[in-house]
Amino acid sequence: MSDHTAFASFQDQFAALRREFEQQLEQDLLDIEATWRDVLADDTNHAAAVRLHQQVHKLTGTSATFGFVTLSGISRALERFLRASIEDVTGFDADQRMRIETDIESLKLAACLGEPVTSDNTEAFPPPVNSSVQQEVDRNRTIFLIEDDTMLIRELSLQISYFGYSVQAFSQLFDLQTAVQQVCPAAVIMDIIFPEGDLAGADAIRSLRNEMHADLPVIFISSRSDFIARLHAVQAGGSAYFTKPIDISGLIDKLDTLTAHKIPEPYRILIVEDDSSLAMYYDLILRHAGMLTTIVTNPMQVMEPLSDFRPDLILMDVYMPVCNGLDLAAVIRQEETYVSIPIVFLSSETDTDKQLAAMSLGGDDFLTKPIQPDHLVSSVLARAQRSRILRSFMVRDSLTGLYNHTRIKELLNIEITRALRQRTPLTFAMIDIDHFKSVNDTYGHSVGDRVLKSLVHMLQQRLRKTDIIGRYGGEEFAIVLTNIDTAKAYIILDELREQFARLRQHYGKDTFSVTFSCGLASLADYRDAIAISDAADKALYEAKRSGRNRVVVATEYTM
Ligand code: GH3
Ligand code: MG
Ligand code: MG
Ligand code: MG
Repeated sequence: MSDHTAFASFQDQFAALRREFEQQLEQDLLDIEATWRDVLADDTNHAAAVRLHQQVHKLTGTSATFGFVTLSGISRALERFLRASIEDVTGFDADQRMRIETDIESLKLAACLGEPVTSDNTEAFPPPVNSSVQQEVDRNRTIFLIEDDTMLIRELSLQISYFGYSVQAFSQLFDLQTAVQQVCPAAVIMDIIFPEGDLAGADAIRSLRNEMHADLPVIFISSRSDFIARLHAVQAGGSAYFTKPIDISGLIDKLDTLTAHKIPEPYRILIVEDDSSLAMYYDLILRHAGMLTTIVTNPMQVMEPLSDFRPDLILMDVYMPVCNGLDLAAVIRQEETYVSIPIVFLSSETDTDKQLAAMSLGGDDFLTKPIQPDHLVSSVLARAQRSRILRSFMVRDSLTGLYNHTRIKELLNIEITRALRQRTPLTFAMIDIDHFKSVNDTYGHSVGDRVLKSLVHMLQQRLRKTDIIGRYGGEEFAIVLTNIDTAKAYIILDELREQFARLRQHYGKDTFSVTFSCGLASLADYRDAIAISDAADKALYEAKRSGRNRVVVATEYTM
């Protein structure tokens, strides 16, 4: 979809929402009149007066948003008047009745005029974000390997494929030319010395670059480590240079950075707004700006989407019947998991005292209706960005970038709640590297760190996006495998175990391998977070006890 059509359809959608509001307007005004008659019929009917205020309040917000300026002006004045008078429960006197009567007539008149739109809200919309942001980009994982040493081809292909890449290997320079015309690889790994010459690899890349338009990441590998070879590699546009024997985890690190798709995860915004047309309006604007959204119109149902949708930010209406936004924010913040989630309040409230009260209750910002689209987008974006960065400091482990101990336990809790509710399976895995202390003792701590990272890489490449990986302790990892029973999880983890054991770890010119042990427990057998992590831990202990380098499923025997 081109930007132009994206924008056109956006305006269409906005126009449709406005038409819907217009069609509903007549009925809304009839409802207001009916409620007003209820108030008149019984002076002591305080509930009717409160309802009237709510109806007018709602009209104020929607009419302003959809550009009905006169209507919203009258409505806003009436709303303020009603709010002040319903605090006084003695009922309305004759003057007050007259005033309300007149305002309701004016509202009807303004609605009948079918008011020309004086402020075209769509003008204030920020340019549409490329729609590809919303799509899951299929990552190209094809790597071309050009190397005349067939032994090395076999070895490298195997090692690289463990990390989820698919390798196409060529032993002759000539083959590369034709292959590139058929498939565009995510990156090329190129040897330098070929029978054609001692710098033939670098030269081949240089001439390939002249023919190709697209940018192609290239990593050079060579037994040459002299300045001339390195210079040629740089001049050919190489992004990295590895000398043989190849440090695999370094090479994978480089491949990961070079092939990472740079499109960030879209921000996730939960919209809590009782008025569905306003909710759809915010939804439209935020989605248009490339964010993912979920709408909740019943504030009592906010807890489920909080755990299921995992928003980066909550956009919350203040004035809602049943439960107001300020109370709701306080309830949400009672849960430790959501203490730091930013909440942006939306209200037609212009009273600064109330706004300040909202802030002190943990609101991060207060936007006054009607909200200009660009203003909404910029304040939501700024806060979502900041909160994601802050959260990543608090919840991520610095060496591996995985969730830290606290966060993985929180996420286990959240996922268990969801799985129990949706009746889906869940498996919890604990992994511990075998004899890791001796890796450190033999090769040093920094080599140990690299081994840790190589395991993390493998977990990230091999597991699904929905699996949640955390660093539980030094060389211990925890994985929440969602929607998968333990039999299937066993197959996955056991395959990972095998691959990790086959992975060559490098120490200078030497290589060695490392293994891990793993314990699994199923939510079907252990029904809460404490039970399941306890069971997985005991299964891990059993895996260690019975010889290491194995996966054990928790049963009554391991407990
Ligand atoms: P086992 O097979 O029984 O698990 O033996 P082990 O040696 O792996 O277990 P132990 O718990 O005795 O030792 C864990 C070692 O992991 C000790 C610690 O120095 C090392 N370690 C923990 N965190 C890190 C880290 O971040 N980097 C490195 N290099 N080593 C770490
Ligand atoms: Mg509301
Ligand atoms: Mg340990
Ligand atoms: Mg260990």
